[in-house]
Amino acid sequence: MTDVDPVQRLLRTARDDARDESFRVTGVMMQYYVVCKRELWFHSRHIEIDRGNSAIVRGTHIDETAYSDKRRHVSIDSTIAIDVLDDGRVMEVKPSSALVEPAKLQLLYYLWYLKHVVGVEKSGVLAHPTERKREDVELTDETEQKVEDAIRGVHEIIARGSPPPASKKPVCDSCAYHDFCWSC
Ligand code: SF4
Repeated sequence: MTDVDPVQRLLRTARDDARDESFRVTGVMMQYYVVCKRELWFHSRHIEIDRGNSAIVRGTHIDETAYSDKRRHVSIDSTIAIDVLDDGRVMEVKPSSALVEPAKLQLLYYLWYLKHVVGVEKSGVLAHPTERKREDVELTDETEQKVEDAIRGVHEIIARGSPPPASKKPVCDSCAYHDFCWSC
């Protein structure tokens, strides 16, 4: 791979101006970057394992019915898929407060992508319908830096020739790659 900053490479790819290797980051890759970098590496190799619906077990499954009358699905570049509320805010729905940090980074990434690729500045809201809680999420200088650091971090992980070592964490039991990490 070339020495081009991964953030610039991602932007060039999104603008169909990839003079070097293309580089795309999806929302779920951002989630995995926070949850488990080994999981991110497996995902980047398109290793799919049907172990039940781990997203539902883990609680990261997006509730398709919550606020369904108030949001529209928007897909951009086959890379990000967002929900836009009637008031224009981008919403990410989580059924519980568990794993809120991955969901927040995913939402911030969507806001960053909209600003830098689409040229639209939006606010976000992280919703927890089962807990009747909402959290405003905004793109600031600080959160933009966080997103760009994560983009570079994702690039560094998936460029590796082998996955990071397994480290036991609560989400392992609901992970599709559990048997890769913990079965003898
Ligand atoms: S089982 Fe645990 S260590 Fe292995 S990929 Fe999944 S979350 Fe990561």
